[in-house]
Amino acid sequence: MRMMLLGAPGAGKGTQAQQLADEMGIPQISTGDMLRSAVSDQTAMGLEAKRYMDLGQLVPDEVVIGIVEDRLAADDCERGYILDGFPRTVPQAEALNAFAPLEAVVDVHVPETELVSRLCGRRTCKSCGAIFHVVSSPPSREGICDRCGDELYQRSDDNEDSIRERLGQYKSKTAPLSDWYEGRGVLKRVDGTGKPSDVYARITDALGRS
Ligand code: AMP
Repeated sequence: MRMMLLGAPGAGKGTQAQQLADEMGIPQISTGDMLRSAVSDQTAMGLEAKRYMDLGQLVPDEVVIGIVEDRLAADDCERGYILDGFPRTVPQAEALNAFAPLEAVVDVHVPETELVSRLCGRRTCKSCGAIFHVVSSPPSREGICDRCGDELYQRSDDNEDSIRERLGQYKSKTAPLSDWYEGRGVLKRVDGTGKPSDVYARITDALGRS
């Protein structure tokens, strides 16, 4: 299945996409993860992307569309994939639609005040990308990933100014995708509040997989 999780920063897309990908045996493709790895490898594209990411702004469409197009051509995408964080603008959705139309888009909705507190407490594993929260889902040992044992870190863009900017960009540029995909008959809306396991059950229900 070719599907995507849509939702504001902090809505839980990464956490849910990881679990869906494990269960469905198809890759999770996160443009944020791909961009962060280009930043840490200091590639030319990574250095350009970093200027936008540090400010909480979207990386230009042509850069992101290029990396996704390359990634989706890989063999492991033949049976489908779960896109997480792409598309984020109508031009990105139009480009994707031209070469790989999505079969399902799940819009995970969480109220803004909760998004801010989730992002402020988020901790991510620097090796496997597993996501924790200092209050609502802390790791068993502080600062250490339960999944692979490596170190957890706080993303540099999970600070108050950047969070505000990212939420603003989401509202103006990404939220319109909900109607865009509804018009194409593939949108499912899901309540993203509560325990991750409850949200997961709602998503699999909406996808008809429960
Ligand atoms: P994320 O990990 O999905 O929260 O993404 C982190 C940052 O990477 C975003 O704030 C953007 O700067 C950039 N980014 C990720 N995906 C996209 C995309 N599809 N389009 C433009 N910028 C993106």
